Amino acid sequence: MSPELERVITALQDGERWLITGHTHIDGDCLGSMLAVAWLLTKMGKEAFCVVPDELPSCLAFLPGADRLVRYDQWREPFDRAVIVDCEPERTGPVYDLIKDKTIVNIDHHQSNIDGPGIRWVVPSAAAAGELVFRIIDQLDLEPDEACATCLYTALMSDTGGFRFSNTSADTLAIASRLVELGASPAGIAQALYEERPFPYLLLLGHVLSSISLDPSGRVAWSVLPGELIESYSLHPSDLDGFVHYLRMIKGVEIAILFQSTLDGEVKVSLRSREMVNVADLAAQLGGGGHPRAAGCTLAGSLDQVVPKVTALALGSL
Ligand code: 5GP
Ligand code: MN
Repeated sequence: MSPELERVITALQDGERWLITGHTHIDGDCLGSMLAVAWLLTKMGKEAFCVVPDELPSCLAFLPGADRLVRYDQWREPFDRAVIVDCEPERTGPVYDLIKDKTIVNIDHHQSNIDGPGIRWVVPSAAAAGELVFRIIDQLDLEPDEACATCLYTALMSDTGGFRFSNTSADTLAIASRLVELGASPAGIAQALYEERPFPYLLLLGHVLSSISLDPSGRVAWSVLPGELIESYSLHPSDLDGFVHYLRMIKGVEIAILFQSTLDGEVKVSLRSREMVNVADLAAQLGGGGHPRAAGCTLAGSLDQVVPKVTALALGSL
């Protein structure tokens, strides 16, 4: 066992009342990992509460335990320690104010979080934070029940794009296989994650697809989603996950970028690459972060200001 993992496990054993959280724009890995940590701490005889920084995407509402999540502004319970999964502490948004003076245990797989203070286990080679949570549970000789296995399988499936992305390793598939033995349903989870979108999701996808731009070399594709349009369809931004993936489907495209404006003057940028460009480095130059093949950032400004700046940077990285 690595010294980092040992420190994390000791810290989990020592605390009694835990707040568990993750990043804003919560995704399947983040929420699945949070709920699995809550299961583990409860199993260890502790009290554990999951607190979220913003709205859940509707496709994650099926996760066992999602009905007991508390929003940061509703949180009143005392606690002595916090676990952050799938991000660095600052990306927990408004939750950070609740936890910044407490002992924090950080479990993550983002390269951009490799260095930092405190009790932390950060493994960039892991496909999902859920892989690390599984290894902690395993290390403690515990066996996930069906609900916990469902949360962890969802974590793995989300961050590997349904076991298709290049982060999918033999370890990822071995853990997924174990989780299926323990009760996770591959078809049921795939159905919930990918096949039950609200109707307006498809209408917005239509907008994204009909607004694609491709640079003359055919290697960078991008599209835009104006905040007013998202608003007019009454969709929450957290329900829009996955659009950028369609842009990378174009044969020959190395970098795909989706620009999503918000009504408060910001643009959320999602970056994906096929096999060469490290988009985490690109995002870091813009104040964001992520993984080599999937990264993002949020920039102040309008689409007209942000799109030329980011596409020029992307073209320059080829
Ligand atoms: P997405 O495009 O799906 O929102 O994010 C892709 C990846 O980049 C995810 O792993 C996400 O955690 C990361 N990411 C997105 N936005 C930011 C950001 O502003 N800062 C950091 N550090 N990572 C981000
Ligand atoms: Mn993740």
